Amino acid sequence: MTTTRFAPSPTGYLHIGGLRTSLFSWLWAKKNQGQFLLRIEDTDLARNSEEAVTAILNAFDWVGMAYDGEAVFQSKRFDLYAKYVEQLLDEGKAYKCYMSKEELSALREEQMAKGERTRYDGRYRDFTGTPPENVEPVIRIKAPIEGNIIFNDGVKGEVCIATTEVDDFVIARAGGVPTYNFVVAIDDALMGLSDVIRGDDHLYNTPKQIVVYQALGFKLPNFYHVAMINNEQGKKLSKRDGATDVMEYKTLGYLPEALLNFLVRLGWSHGDQEIFSIDEMIELFNPNKINKSSSNYNLDKLLWLNAHYIKNKPHDELAELLVEYGVDIRKDDRRDLILNATKERGKTLVELADQINLILNAPTEYNEKNAKKAFKGEAAEILAEFTKLLKESEARTPAEYHAIIEQIVELKEIGFGKIGQPLRVSLLGAMTGSGLDEIMAILGIDETVSRIEKAIEYQNKTI
Ligand code: GLU
Repeated sequence: MTTTRFAPSPTGYLHIGGLRTSLFSWLWAKKNQGQFLLRIEDTDLARNSEEAVTAILNAFDWVGMAYDGEAVFQSKRFDLYAKYVEQLLDEGKAYKCYMSKEELSALREEQMAKGERTRYDGRYRDFTGTPPENVEPVIRIKAPIEGNIIFNDGVKGEVCIATTEVDDFVIARAGGVPTYNFVVAIDDALMGLSDVIRGDDHLYNTPKQIVVYQALGFKLPNFYHVAMINNEQGKKLSKRDGATDVMEYKTLGYLPEALLNFLVRLGWSHGDQEIFSIDEMIELFNPNKINKSSSNYNLDKLLWLNAHYIKNKPHDELAELLVEYGVDIRKDDRRDLILNATKERGKTLVELADQINLILNAPTEYNEKNAKKAFKGEAAEILAEFTKLLKESEARTPAEYHAIIEQIVELKEIGFGKIGQPLRVSLLGAMTGSGLDEIMAILGIDETVSRIEKAIEYQNKTI
């Protein structure tokens, strides 16, 4: 059975890079009808917080990636880890090291002076003497001394690390707190993971974890180390390149499906296909096809995808989503008219809400530059004539309003701009926004006439 996991350290928000590796893990589990587990790596009690756990869980909830079973908290498993430390000590696979901090730094300095790599020298590995007093020992694991540690990475290919690179590292600190690589290996094994997909910033932890697997007789999972996400200049992604907190994308008006679609393409592809529904991602994703090289972050692409998903979203869902952005048209009979008029113009839900507000709220002032340009010459007269036609009509649909625009164009023998520009500024205060016929159909005759009359008044007063 395929079992994957995401194992965040709750030190802050869910990072966009973390969401990408967890998406890969989630897709792989779904594809194989397996399990996607969540483990909170909260052993660093000083740096971890409950708010961070909540923030991470909220982000998962928002993107709709549910995990199976109960989340595992490492902070609740100290007894279990202690049991494995005991086991390794009993079996002679780990030992107590009494080296003091001073001795350790003296050793480091000596190695550095000789230009050697700093590493523990194994001095307590086979120690049988009387331990020094007043030193609380750490526990070190016996790492292999000869040969290489080799594993086959699903992304990088064969990874071969000389054992000289891996010293007898600490598995439990003085006082008994277990160390990171020790607990990760135990948890991954006990949680039954078949595939571990994570960022390649963890690549050099893997040989250490393998030492633990081997010492405890656990079966190794398949490893996939995914290259980091870079910015457009090929440098490490930072806050300057856009939001790194997943939930900030919600605030900015992105849809989770657009974000997931964007992320799945960072490091994985299927021909030149850009748009993937969740079902398609599940069907097509394969971690063995993850690119070896880093992928570049491109916010224009995310915006383009977001526009696509907004355009194609059913109106009842869009209306529901817009509530959080300050627009409630759920019970408005003009809902479809409003969304048809605006959804092509809103690349984010924030922009969409702005477009809708622009129509629904009568202008309180006119953009001065636009007003000067639009309200000149016979504009007031054309607008007055136009309101007459409106009052006589029973227009409801955009097409019916369009016919009235055509009527005035013919009647006054004018170009379309001569009515279009002043009408737009009258209705919206500005020169932007949706189609005039659609706007009028949303506003209805009375509101349209009222806005035009106010604009005529303004023109008579100021121009
Ligand atoms: N807790 C680690 C992190 O947040 C992930 C560990 C792993 O995936 O093995 O970077």
